[in-house]
Amino acid sequence: MERFDVIVIGAGPGGYVAAIRSAQLGMKCAVIERESLGGICLNWGCIPTKALLKSAESYLTAIHGTEYGFSAENVGADIQAIVSRSRGVASTMSKGIEYLFKKNGVTVIKGEARLRNDGGHAVVDVALAEGGSAEYGAEHIIVATGARAASLPFAPIDGKKILGYRHALVPETLPSSMAVIGSGAIGSELAFFYASLGVDVTIIEFLDRILPLEDDEASAQLSRSFRKRGIKVMVSSAVKSVDTSGDGVVLKIDTKKGETELRADVVLSAVGVVPNTDNIGLDSLGIECVKGRIPVDGHYETSFKGVYAIGDVIATPALAHVASAEAINCVENIAGLAPAPVDYGIIPSCTYTCPQVASVGLNERTAKAKEIAYKVGKFPFTASGKATASGEREGFVKILADPETDRVLGASMVGENVTEMLSVISLAMKMNATCKDIMSVIFPHPTMSEAIMEAASAVHGEAVHI
Ligand SMILES: Cc1cc2nc3c(=O)[nH]c(=O)nc-3n(C[C@H](O)[C@H](O)[C@H](O)COP(=O)(O)OP(=O)(O)OC[C@H]3O[C@@H](n4cnc5c(N)ncnc54)[C@H](O)[C@@H]3O)c2cc1C
Repeated sequence: MERFDVIVIGAGPGGYVAAIRSAQLGMKCAVIERESLGGICLNWGCIPTKALLKSAESYLTAIHGTEYGFSAENVGADIQAIVSRSRGVASTMSKGIEYLFKKNGVTVIKGEARLRNDGGHAVVDVALAEGGSAEYGAEHIIVATGARAASLPFAPIDGKKILGYRHALVPETLPSSMAVIGSGAIGSELAFFYASLGVDVTIIEFLDRILPLEDDEASAQLSRSFRKRGIKVMVSSAVKSVDTSGDGVVLKIDTKKGETELRADVVLSAVGVVPNTDNIGLDSLGIECVKGRIPVDGHYETSFKGVYAIGDVIATPALAHVASAEAINCVENIAGLAPAPVDYGIIPSCTYTCPQVASVGLNERTAKAKEIAYKVGKFPFTASGKATASGEREGFVKILADPETDRVLGASMVGENVTEMLSVISLAMKMNATCKDIMSVIFPHPTMSEAIMEAASAVHGEAVHI
């Protein structure tokens, strides 16, 4: 049996970062992957969606060209070319991981892995992609097998009329109408993408607002922006059934006003993800999942010594940057570096619609729920010179601060490029900065990021620019 210091199962942003960091720290490392290097993030998630969204945004800019003073005749969207670009981007990034593995001396084993208890030690059996099987051992085994699309029990994903995100990323043709069930980041981004290309999109959300984890005002702003772009938004609405027997689909939906029916060509099921924790041999190690997720301690070690879990398989936010942060922390602990724990209070959350939505730390809803006192400062992009020059005046920056210490507790932003601005707040939080500190920084003018300084000033009732 070939042995390594570290074996990582899954090469997503959890697994590939864990493997590379292990190798950097001098450990002999192998990564086992059954599909493409880069995992969901690079192949079916973060990256290909952003490529699609870039096409959608560019198309919108082109068709509204007259607003910027150029003619916009004969602009057409070619869905096959758009998808092909997105797949090319994903493939480029996946090849980048292959290169990094080579450069760092990480062994790549292509196949499907399963854990097994071999006389009190965990070993990994692999059904090799090239055929046959092999057995590997390691002192440390990191499970980073990620997650897949969840579906409603009465609406299983069939790839034809009920799509999961993978199908929605590679359409051959555009439907004329689409019902999107679920308005988290994935549902909202894909709803925006399809609507931008002319598809008649309806979002159906069970809770009373879209992007339910965001600040209420951010949800309300995105709803307004979506409606302005022709996306229908149904909140406080529960899909009860999806009938696929006819030409398209017919959804029965419970709303506050009673039951209603919605017809569409296809449904996109965007109701969350389920961790890939079944069929990987956790039972043979006596590791019991809670709601499908693997319980771990502060060092990401499971109940079985030497077996760790990170990323979407554990009960932390299912985000690529969280998986990577956990990977580094887990591996540095294995190497005895005693890193500071991952700070789950400063996890950025971003939705790449137009306008974008970004937040970190507390919002008004979570602060109230935790009974944490706060003061708030808000600056609208209607008052920003750069936003006005860009024709992107929707949205705002809102900062929450501690009334006693003035330290930044969190921020919510809606607007163009706010996902690029958010890390200013994350850094401020990490450095225990106050709103006064932010106010004393000179932000370049004109930029969207000036709104951060203005929102910090508004916390003190001192916003000066309008
Ligand atoms: C449409 C979409 C858009 C998203 N956009 C964003 C975004 O913008 N920002 C963000 O932060 N997050 C985003 N996410 C979430 C992000 O993709 C995940 O949080 C992230 O990929 C999780 O990383 P991971 O390493 O835990 O797992 P994954 O990326 O899921 O990787 C797990 C890997 O393990 C492999 N695997 C599973 N079982 C086995 C086995 N038995 N043997 C061998 N290999 C196995 C899988 O093939 C997969 O490649 C998005 C997700 C989706 C679906």
